[in-house]
Amino acid sequence: MSGKKIDVSLLKSKGFLPQRQENMFSMRLKVVSGNLDAKKLRAIADAAEKYGSGYIHITSRQQIEVPFVKLEDTEAARNELEKQGISAGSAGKKVRAVVACQGDKVCRNGLIDCENLACKIDEKYFGEAVPKKLKIAVTGCPSACVRPQENDFGIMGNVKPEILGENCVGCKLCEKACKVGAIKVLEDKAFINTKKCILCGACIAACRKDALRAGKIGCTIFVGGKAGRQPMQGIKLLELADEEQLFSVLEKTFEYYRREGLDGERFGDLLERVGMEKYREEVLS
Ligand code: SF4
Ligand code: SF4
Ligand code: SF4
Repeated sequence: MSGKKIDVSLLKSKGFLPQRQENMFSMRLKVVSGNLDAKKLRAIADAAEKYGSGYIHITSRQQIEVPFVKLEDTEAARNELEKQGISAGSAGKKVRAVVACQGDKVCRNGLIDCENLACKIDEKYFGEAVPKKLKIAVTGCPSACVRPQENDFGIMGNVKPEILGENCVGCKLCEKACKVGAIKVLEDKAFINTKKCILCGACIAACRKDALRAGKIGCTIFVGGKAGRQPMQGIKLLELADEEQLFSVLEKTFEYYRREGLDGERFGDLLERVGMEKYREEVLS
């Protein structure tokens, strides 16, 4: 072993996380929205054989890590993958890669194009410095498969159902499809209890008489959630936000977090300390 001091912060900034084994690093690679094409997967597999132990680890946030990269191989491994368009994953006090489900491109329940949205957000904010770290998730519908409520900034697709009463024949298919009992048929006509409705759109898909249609499609925004040792549930900030509103809120959230957040403070802890109202006023103005 050389006596040279290892610059762990520098290595972390390049995606190399120190392992418990001396001079070994787990190389984190950036994956946006959980999708990677076959060519990149092959390049990662080759790198795992050449520089790691011949396997990869998929993290709970859809990232790929190649464990057991030796200190002396870190630079070569990074350069080789960079040439294939595979960037280093984020660690430390930065914005992390955006996670997402398959959304309306693939999933039958999907209401929004999660990959597209995740890529746009990632392009704008990935790796930006923040007081602690900032995790963003985009999920396609209220089934919430990527748990937006456990992220600093969570986005969930939703749709407002609208009833066209003249087409309704009272068949109750919508009632059966609704998992939360928000739509009821009374005297052969469907009615929605908006207090119970979670904006999932299942009733619209179930109706065969064109008596239900999609009104506004947008997203619910949750803020301040986190998992880990002291988990917090994200607070619902907005429902049915369109893309312009979403990016406006996101930009203002970054400004707010950077300005008001203490060093090492997660966004949810900031909201708890300062109060939700001050933040809400600022980002929704
Ligand atoms: S959150 Fe909805 S759209 Fe996304 S995978 Fe789950 S069911 Fe499908
Ligand atoms: S499924 Fe359509 S037609 Fe049938 S009760 Fe519901 S809204 Fe009316
Ligand atoms: S949108 Fe979902 S929750 Fe609302 S009434 Fe339809 S099925 Fe029920």
